[in-house]
Amino acid sequence: MIKGKVALVTGASSGIGHAVALALSRAGAKVAAGARRTDRLESLNQEIEKSGGEIIVQKLDVTKKAECDSFAEAAVKKWGSADILVNNAGLMPLSFFKNLKVSEWDQMIDVNIKGVLYCTGAVIPHMVAKKSGHIVNMSSIAGRIVFPAGSVYCATKHAVTAFSEGLRQEFSQHSNIRVTCIEPGVVDTEINNTITDASLTKFVESAKHMVALKAEDIANAILFAVESPAHMNVNEILIRPTTQER
Ligand code: NDP
Repeated sequence: MIKGKVALVTGASSGIGHAVALALSRAGAKVAAGARRTDRLESLNQEIEKSGGEIIVQKLDVTKKAECDSFAEAAVKKWGSADILVNNAGLMPLSFFKNLKVSEWDQMIDVNIKGVLYCTGAVIPHMVAKKSGHIVNMSSIAGRIVFPAGSVYCATKHAVTAFSEGLRQEFSQHSNIRVTCIEPGVVDTEINNTITDASLTKFVESAKHMVALKAEDIANAILFAVESPAHMNVNEILIRPTTQER
């Protein structure tokens, strides 16, 4: 049961992270929500407070280690622990490698990989000391397969999947920290807005016609994992829309 637990959610300003923050709050968790767009976090704050939930929101750029540390510290200072971390912040500026979108490669590596490491590093000492915790990492179907124009994005998500298994091996048995890697297929969010490669316009348009998953579907899957009994370590959840082939 997560009632009364402290859950930190990165990238809570839109899409999956926003839905996860709401779902965890409805289930009784105290939520620390981080992202760069503080105006969006403010409306999440109001929504959760209005429904009687407990929340703190904090400006968080996961590429900055100091901000990840202070995000975790804010939760621990307010509520005395950091029980669940949902490493959700990420971006997907797909592009063909030949177009050499170097700054987008850097951004994906910094947010999708290093951000996950920094935030995990910020909570793990608290979890180890408490001998209890749950890390939920947002990988993707792109952490299992590779597709055209997705070489760098898929590489970052393969890294998240590998890191999740490494965390499990190091911390589950000995420190009672559970690890869940979430691997969604297409989810209807703002994520395609980060694509700037003009040759992908058709791909982006065709994705709009698919019956995609909703952010809430992923939030429910995360809820299942974190609500599972303590002896049960839900390590991976892969969810595709029924109409998605690969
Ligand atoms: P959105 O674009 O709606 O949300 C992305 C979130 O990440 C935003 O809240 C954004 O907040 C945050 N973010 C981006 N950069 C940073 C940063 N430097 N520091 C902190 N937060 C950051 O997309 P989704 O909800 O779809 O994406 C969430 C996760 O789900 C990502 O990891 C994505 O790879 C993964 N995913 C998505 C799929 C999909 O089809 N939508 C499929 C599989 C996985 P802000 O800009 O305010 O900082």
